[in-house]
Amino acid sequence: MNDGDSDRRQCSFCGRGGAPDRRLVAGPGICICEHCVDTARELLDFTTDGSAPAAGSLGPAWEQLSDEEILRHLPEISHVGSQLEEQLKRWVGAARERNVSWSRIGAALGITRQTAWERFKNPA
Ligand SMILES: [Zn+2]
Repeated sequence: MNDGDSDRRQCSFCGRGGAPDRRLVAGPGICICEHCVDTARELLDFTTDGSAPAAGSLGPAWEQLSDEEILRHLPEISHVGSQLEEQLKRWVGAARERNVSWSRIGAALGITRQTAWERFKNPA
């Protein structure tokens, strides 16, 4: 996907921006860098042999993280949330450009037409 804001994108998994040696692949609302793709591939190869994944490899084990580690991740997670919201607005904007009704958009998101309009009336 190339929509002109690729320089602001960050990997939704590690939080790093794209670079020549860290290309990003965009999906609907998220990005993943090639390094995280490699990590995911290694994890999937590891777990497909029936063995248990390494501790923490499928997500954070809260009890193993210090307060500082949790705090260090908050900005990254917040940024991903903002990135997702911006992408959602763009997708809704694309639907509106096709004259898809607010009712249908709301139904797709599990919210009312009115809530959809209020949330997305100002395009990204
Ligand atoms: Zn990454």
